[in-house]
Formats: sequence, C-alpha cells, structure tokens
Amino acid sequence: MSATLIECDAQFQALLELPLGACAADARNLSELFHALYEETARAMDATVFLFALYDEASGTVRVVRQMDRSIEHPGGSFPLGKGFTSEVIRTGTPKLIRRWATEGPPVRLLYGTEPKELVAPQSGVVVPIMSGDRVLGVLSAQSYRPEAYGDADLLRLAGIAAHGGIGIQRLRATEQRALEHERRAFELEAVLATMTDALLIVDARGAIVQLNRAARELLCLDGASLVLGQPLEQQRVEQWPETAREIAAALAPTIAALRSGTSIAEAEVELHSGQLRVLSVGASVLRSAGGAPQGGVILLRDVTAQRNLERLREDIFSMAWHDMQAPIAVIRGHAELLLRLLSCGESDGKALQAEAGLIVTHADRLVDLLTTLFDVSCLEAGLLSISRSPTDLSAMAREAAEGVRTAARHEIKVEGDARVLGEWDEGRIRQVLMNVLSNALKYSPAGTTVTVSVTADERNATVRVRDQGIGLDRSELARLFRRGYRTESAKKIPGGGLGLYFSKGIVAAHGGRMWAESPGHGQGSAFCFALPLEVRG
Ligand code: ADP
Repeated sequence: MSATLIECDAQFQALLELPLGACAADARNLSELFHALYEETARAMDATVFLFALYDEASGTVRVVRQMDRSIEHPGGSFPLGKGFTSEVIRTGTPKLIRRWATEGPPVRLLYGTEPKELVAPQSGVVVPIMSGDRVLGVLSAQSYRPEAYGDADLLRLAGIAAHGGIGIQRLRATEQRALEHERRAFELEAVLATMTDALLIVDARGAIVQLNRAARELLCLDGASLVLGQPLEQQRVEQWPETAREIAAALAPTIAALRSGTSIAEAEVELHSGQLRVLSVGASVLRSAGGAPQGGVILLRDVTAQRNLERLREDIFSMAWHDMQAPIAVIRGHAELLLRLLSCGESDGKALQAEAGLIVTHADRLVDLLTTLFDVSCLEAGLLSISRSPTDLSAMAREAAEGVRTAARHEIKVEGDARVLGEWDEGRIRQVLMNVLSNALKYSPAGTTVTVSVTADERNATVRVRDQGIGLDRSELARLFRRGYRTESAKKIPGGGLGLYFSKGIVAAHGGRMWAESPGHGQGSAFCFALPLEVRG
C-alpha cells in the first residue's frame, strides 16, 4: 500500500470516529439531516453545489431530499436510476472523484431539477454512497465550478460525512418505525376501547384525563369540545358541563386524588341523582413507571343501575310476598284448623264443613293470584315477559269481563263503544290488564256508582277506557301511578299491593301501546285507559 493511501486510510478512520455532528444526531427529519450534512460538508470542503439523495431499492428510484447551489437551497425530486455519476455510485456502491468534469465524464446534470439556462456545469465533484452494511441508502455529492477542486482526502472526508448521514437516516427510520408502531398500538387500543361497554378513562400523574373511550363520553354526556384532554378536572370548565357530567366529575374527584397518591380503588358505588337515579360502580388502578412512581391510572365506570334495580326488586318482592302472604296463610290455617276440629268432633253438618272447605279454596286462590302477580312482575323487570299474539276481539273481551264481575259487584257496569274491535294481541295478558283496571274501578269507587267500559278503534289504535265515579286522583298522583309499589294515600285503607298498574303498563308497552290515567281530582272519579296498535310494528 502506498504511503498516500495509508495516510488516507488513517484519515478516514479518524473521520469515522468523529462524533456524529450534533445537528445530524438531533435531526428530527430528512430536511434537518440535509442541513446538518451540508454544514458539515461545507466546513470540510468546497460545497458550492451539494446534493443529498436517498435510494429506494424496491422502485429503483433516487429521491433527492434537497440540494444547494451557490448557497441557494433547492427542493428535491425523484428520478429513476440512470447513467449519470449519482446513479453509477448508487449502482456500484463505490465513491467517485471527478477531477475535471469536461474531460472525465459526460455533460451530466448534476444539480437535479434546475433550469437549463441556470446550468453552468460544475467542473469537478465528489460523489459517495451512504451505506448500511452492503446496502446503498443514498448518496452525498459535493461539486464545484472550479476544476480540480477535490482530491482523495475530500473523497474520504465526504465518505466520513456520508457515514454520519447513514447513521442519521437509520435513526430517522427507526424513529419513524417506532412512531408507526406507536400509532398502530394506539389504533389497536382505540379499537379495543371503542368496543368496550364499560366507560374507561385514563388519567396522567397530574390527574388530567388523557384518554376516554366512547362509552365514557356517552356516560359523561360530553361532546369533544366540552372536555379538554390533558387538563386536570379542577381546571376544566365544569360549570358549563351538563348536570350528569358535573355529578360524575364530582364523584370522580376522590378517585383521581387516590390515583395521584398511588392508591388503587377496588370497587366503589356512586349514586347519581340528577334525572333518574343511576348507580355507577367505580374501580381505579394505578399505573406505575418502571421505577415504581405513580403515573396516573385507569378508571373504569360501569352502570349497574339495572343490576341494583333487579336486586332491589328481588328484595321488594320478597318482603311484599312475606307481608301479603301472611294474611291469606293465616286465614287458610284458621279455616283448616276449624275444619279439622269439626271433623274430629264428628260434625255431621255437611253445609258447615263445605263452607269451611270453600273458604280454604277461596283464600288459596288469592294466594295463587298473589304469587302469579309477583312472578309476572319479576319476569317483566328481568325483561322475560313474552307476548304471544293471536286474533283477539277486545269488545267481546270487555263484555265477558264485565259479565264476570257483574254478579258480585255492587255497582252498575256498562259496556259501550264498537261492537267488534279486532287485533293481534296476547289475549291472556290483555285480559289481565282489563281485569286489573276494571277491578280497581270497582275497588276504588263506592257501591251503587257506575263503572263504564268503552272500547273504540280509529285507523291506528284500539282504545279501552274504564271510567268510575270513585275516589279520583290529583295531578301529582297521576304522575306517579304506574310506578312499582306506588299507592295513593286515599287508597291505603283498601287492600292492595301497588303492582297491578305497573305490570299492566309493562304488558301494554310490550304490545307497542301506551297506558295512562285521567282524573279531574280527588272524589271526582277517574278513567284508566290503554291504547293498542292495530298493526303489529317491527
Ligand atoms: P293496588 O290496587 O293493588 O294498590 P294497582 O297497581 O292496581 O295496585 O294500583 C296502584 C294505585 O293506583 C292504587 O293503590 C290506587 O292508589 C291507585 N288507583 C288505581 N286504580 C284507581 C282508581 N280506579 N281510582 C283511584 N285510584 C286508583
């Protein structure tokens, strides 16, 4: 090896060992890398013309990132691998030193994309590949309008800078890869969060909400504009939020404070009273850094209202059953004991025995009715109430029902309206509704008054109206009548469980109809009505 070459080799090694120029290392994009490489080159040699290009192996395309000509920066462009020096260096992966352009090479346009009239051809140049192993990532090219502006040492220097360029490109690609990977993961996470039915909020170490899924947005009733992501709750314009969102925010404050102090919350229940009562179950887990410091956490909110309602219903039904069954059971037991005594005394009066047995049957039937109602109501609440439709004549049903109660009633019962009103309804269930309102009309109005059942139909609906001249209802009672277990003060002296209307409304709703009550006021009678669609919808 000649002395010059050994010298050059040593210089090259020294250059490679130079720390990567701060700017090249910090480059956040290709344009910044270009500037860093240009400045490094301009400090080391004549860089009157400078070009930084990337090579895309898959498409065989050279993409010029940017280029300099006499201190003026020009944008880049792309060209397919051709015959010029740049392409040659890319193809061979070998640096090229052009001492005298005019004699050594074809008049190649080295400065890509400039106007021909501006082209005063450079007289000399150095072109080096930017390598990664044996793959060519791109090229650096410095040119001058002077002939013989470069020697072997410049070639080595530019190769050193190209090595820095290679590291820079790989760093940028890794960063880009990481960004894509993060984006992909964020996208996946976003997709998972979106399918969750539970509301999820992610808070950072300051307690600011940084992420929330669709369910959370819906639960909070917030549109994108109302919640400023990344801002702690106390800095949000909470006073402008809807009432429910404000209530949830207030309920979340202690949970967020717990997360900030590094404490997870297993499960707590929060009741929301704005609008309808809602029960939320809140759980929160702290997220920690590798060092163990709390970094915020994840809050999970689940609407458990339906679950709690069902639990309460079970409790209510149990206590109702306990309360309401005691009386008939006591009566049945009393009559059974009496019957037993009569039999053991050898009572031979068949009528007396029959009367006792008859009372046992009547009260046992009451017990069965009560249990059936409780069972029906729990089915309704659990969403298990099934409707089986068949052709039904509502007018005939009303006449039969009136007939059924007429003998025992101490009222006048009238049936009026259309002679036939036909539709597809669940006959058994609708009879339950009719019997409920009819027996209520008799129960809550004095003997001797009139109860009128009318059945009419228009184009869309069949309407049943049961009018009485009884205790009546005021406005506030009318609004609460159909709630489970609700009974008016004036009705409390008359036995009842407050379940009939609630259940009836559920049956009517399951048919796609509606139920309501009308009354001018206390003591002025009332009308209970329900309308059923004549056409089955949906
Ligand atoms: P129950 O009659 O067993 O108490 P319901 O659910 O059938 O249960 O009725 C609920 C409440 O509605 C009754 O307790 C009563 O206060 C009121 N109500 C029902 N029907 C009438 C009516 N015809 N007139 C006045 N109040 C009524």
